[in-house]
Amino acid sequence: MAFDNRDRTVFIKHKICRFCADPSLKIDYKEPGTLAVFTSERGKIIPRRISGNCARHQRVLALAIKRARKIALLPFTTAKTKMKEYREF
Ligand SMILES: [Zn+2]
Repeated sequence: MAFDNRDRTVFIKHKICRFCADPSLKIDYKEPGTLAVFTSERGKIIPRRISGNCARHQRVLALAIKRARKIALLPFTTAKTKMKEYREF
């Protein structure tokens, strides 16, 4: 993530909830493509403060991701399990 020295903004966060902005965008556990955008490379759900989702949509999204994981459409985690990589997202 970004470490900025006050002046420069290195990383621009999308502060609007994508699902509120675009009502045609559906959160569906059967669509791993949409859900994968909100997971990290390690398979973790991206927190709301970073993704910019609203509370309501984040809840629905988290549920959908968990469902998708259960039916193996999304990973619970990746194969890397070394302690060194634990701190990564
Ligand atoms: Zn929303």
